Amino acid sequence: MANYVSRRKSCRLCDSENFILVMPILPSPIADAFVGADKKDLPQPLIPLDLYQCQDCGHVQNLDIVNPDLLFRDYIFRTSSSAGLVEHFRKYADDIATGFNLAPKSLVLEIGSNDGTLLRFFKEKDMRVQGVDPALEIARQASESGIPTVPDFFTAELAAKILQDQGPAKLVVANNVFAHADQLADVAKGIATILDQGGVFVFEVSYLLDIIDNFVFDTVYHEHLSYHSIDPLSRFFSKHGLHLFDIQKNLSKGGSFRGFVQKTGGPQKEKQIVREMIAEETKRGLHRPKIFQDYEQRILACKDAILEFLDKVRKQGKSVAGYGASTTVATLMYHYELFDKLDYLIDDNSMKHGLYSPGCHLEVKPSSILYEEKPDVVVVLAWQYASPIVGKHERYIKNGGQFVIPLPQLKVVQ
Ligand SMILES: [Zn+2]
Repeated sequence: MANYVSRRKSCRLCDSENFILVMPILPSPIADAFVGADKKDLPQPLIPLDLYQCQDCGHVQNLDIVNPDLLFRDYIFRTSSSAGLVEHFRKYADDIATGFNLAPKSLVLEIGSNDGTLLRFFKEKDMRVQGVDPALEIARQASESGIPTVPDFFTAELAAKILQDQGPAKLVVANNVFAHADQLADVAKGIATILDQGGVFVFEVSYLLDIIDNFVFDTVYHEHLSYHSIDPLSRFFSKHGLHLFDIQKNLSKGGSFRGFVQKTGGPQKEKQIVREMIAEETKRGLHRPKIFQDYEQRILACKDAILEFLDKVRKQGKSVAGYGASTTVATLMYHYELFDKLDYLIDDNSMKHGLYSPGCHLEVKPSSILYEEKPDVVVVLAWQYASPIVGKHERYIKNGGQFVIPLPQLKVVQ
């Protein structure tokens, strides 16, 4: 596994080597590494997923890094394939172009631009656009379709080159990249290089305090390296000549925030919410290990409850399926050790039907199976979507089926 996983020695934000393991999570395979029937007898490696907290700045992070070439070069998912995301980005472009008075011909740079869905909306507003994305095929197609895209990871060196060719950017956008990039200091350096003195950098990441409060520890997976909070991040930006001046919280991915950053000394006045959120983090003890010890206790109590329930129904000879095959499901199945207690998985995404789940190789079947094979018990692994899933399959319950929802506390629907 030498080229597969490497181990980081220092904090991604402040470079300290003073870490505490705050959230042990059992190793799991790469969450979206589904395989076809021809590969289901080949083993897939389990990779550590533990979270560590830097004792100097408080940043929570994964230190075992899967080679990013393996995760991102052959990326398949295209933003434009999701009608919901396209609409989200249309609104995003409108909000930001209006909110910051972006003039026509301004340069808009997106890091992790995928197929150019967001940049296209800025292009329609007569802006100059530039994408950067390491997924080779997606980047090539984006460029061909009129959204120039550098097929690579964003670095300070690349930023300097773009600056030389096109001048400074009025707007830099990054969604997910701030959670997924290992070399964050270099990314920040690049942003400080390319950003216009009056420009804005906007990014969106999931919020550490929401991960705790909303119980979504299953959003921890190998692509996701940083679990951001405001205090460490704000000091990190300052160190790189940048200023986090505003934050908007939102509900996506179990709780996220959008951060707005300018160059130090830029024209925007800092909004009160920045200090308020830092004060709340201090009050809750988010930058100390104790809050995670309590969190782990609650997570393990739920694990005991679902395992006890499954042991009981297994002893009764009942069949058990799992509902959900998204990225969060691998973490949940491995951390809760459910993988050998399920017969197969059910998912609504037809692209996954007939494939086998990462590592434990459970077959993914369509939800029609609820009425054909009629499993006795279905564990809702995609528990955040339990209401719509159960609502859609009332007939399965009427026929005698049972849904079990493992989190945030065990609930049986029959
Ligand atoms: Zn640190």
